[in-house]
Amino acid sequence: MKITDVETILLRLPVVQEIGDGCQTICVIRVHTDEGIVGIGEAHTNPLAAQAIIDSPVYSVSAQGLKHLLIGEDPRDINRLWDKMYKSSQTYGRRGLLMHAMSGVDLALWDILGKASGLPVYRLLGGARKREHLAYASDLSQPTIEGTIDLALQHKASGYRAMKFGWGALGKDRKSDIAIAARLRQALGPDFDIMIDMGFSVPLDHAIQLGRAYAEQDLFFLEEPLSPDDIGGFAKLVAASPTPIATGEKASHEFDYLDLMDRGGLRIIQPDIARMGGISAMLRVIAHAEARNVRVIPHCWSTDILVAATLHCMATMRDCPYLEYNATANPLRTDLLSTPIRPKNGSISVPEKPGLGIELREDTLKRFRWQP
Ligand SMILES: [Mg+2]
Repeated sequence: MKITDVETILLRLPVVQEIGDGCQTICVIRVHTDEGIVGIGEAHTNPLAAQAIIDSPVYSVSAQGLKHLLIGEDPRDINRLWDKMYKSSQTYGRRGLLMHAMSGVDLALWDILGKASGLPVYRLLGGARKREHLAYASDLSQPTIEGTIDLALQHKASGYRAMKFGWGALGKDRKSDIAIAARLRQALGPDFDIMIDMGFSVPLDHAIQLGRAYAEQDLFFLEEPLSPDDIGGFAKLVAASPTPIATGEKASHEFDYLDLMDRGGLRIIQPDIARMGGISAMLRVIAHAEARNVRVIPHCWSTDILVAATLHCMATMRDCPYLEYNATANPLRTDLLSTPIRPKNGSISVPEKPGLGIELREDTLKRFRWQP
């Protein structure tokens, strides 16, 4: 089997807002083969930039675009192709955009391997430890506390038993950041896991105060209250905060996660499979984390392509308490697949069809197609 094309499909909502939502313009990747099998992936990043990285011609031996590296190759040689893409783009890559684009290709290659073998990806990874996972509703913090509480009650009524609010109004006022946790706990009662995601960094002292105040509300974790580059700050925060600290959605290489765990002291990391090198890199990070008794709770806030890939990896993990589930109303998420992946009573099962087990809706691709 040979790769014949790497297609990038850019999809965009009619109105894109400057909010903490990376699912308003998306980059779907299809890897085509000479046997008619097509692999589906997603690069969760700035889509136009990812497209340039894939389509770019040769610049030098260590600064190549991904498409021409892949055409003519056997898509089932995933390990070798991952190394080839990484090595051949080291001058401009290694972190960030390059890894985001590689992630989309990697997901598509695993999808092809599964389809060619007739097996769901989780079986290719050694089989499931757990097929069904609790999902936490992940949503944006609203301009007012009352607005956020209303959303929380809607998610509770939909059957979720855990939820996270992030970005939006958070991180601007310390007292309001503390109050939102108390109000959520009051509204939801004691049997809910509640998480707060600051999105952008606050001063270290502010973060430590939040970590202490949130422990009084029994919060499950406080996410990303410091800069993703502030490893030393995280080490101090983790040592001082009785609330568990989580971070890692903006990291993009397995070495970043080693740093977060070994130097930053993190005991919850949140790799995003569509940003940090795909399923291939995720398997390595899971192994590093499990050897350190660190929890991997993946970042998963984009389309159902990412949800499917995340579920296949989660199925293999020893201890992953929750799937992050984007609970916003967004047709790029809700209408992208022929069979959308939806929680039932707050739980979601890993897809069982070959590959990632998903099929794109051509009408949705047509409806939101963006050709800048
Ligand atoms: Mg986050």
